[in-house]
Amino acid sequence: MTPLQHLGRIIVLSGPSGVGKGSVIAPVLAQFPTIHLALSATTRPQRTGEFDGTHYHFKTDAEFDQLIQDSCFLEWCHVHNHRYGTLKDTVNTTIQTGHHSLIEIDTQGFKKIRQHCTPISIFIAPPSLAVLAERLTNRQTESPHDIDSRLAVAKVELESQTDYTYTIVNLDLAEAQRQLIEILKKELI
Ligand code: 5GP
Repeated sequence: MTPLQHLGRIIVLSGPSGVGKGSVIAPVLAQFPTIHLALSATTRPQRTGEFDGTHYHFKTDAEFDQLIQDSCFLEWCHVHNHRYGTLKDTVNTTIQTGHHSLIEIDTQGFKKIRQHCTPISIFIAPPSLAVLAERLTNRQTESPHDIDSRLAVAKVELESQTDYTYTIVNLDLAEAQRQLIEILKKELI
């Protein structure tokens, strides 16, 4: 008889564009092999240095429409004029094998996920909007117009941070990573 497998947890991590979510998460994940980062699907154009199947599943509008029609998403949202969605299969395969699924989504997506389950929820906040503006400008991946629109969305997202169980202010990268490790140890070990 196959022993019953414990379900893994869903971990939602949100934070405004440019706050440094990737830099905080990547080295921490290397220390938690039981946590799998769920790849989202998006209609956003691929940036230089990004790869399909590594950073996102990059989709055309028609392909994204088909995924919606086939009920493939746990949630999907319009973010910064593009569509992004969490794939049900990706998350289910991870948690059904007893691993934990970390999904990096925006605050609207978190509100939708919360209707189905109670994930561990972590918000990464910038020290200030001025610092966020500087980081978005320095990374040189968005046009000035896109930066303005991402900052406007950031203001709204910051208002939702109280919906999350934990908030980490990314003032110092090493300290933010330390706090994330503490939270994950407390919740998962
Ligand atoms: P970026 O284009 O900078 O990679 O991501 C823009 C925003 O989309 C970020 O806030 C990120 O968290 C969010 N995002 C990425 N994947 C998903 C997803 O599957 N669902 C939702 N709702 N938001 C996502």
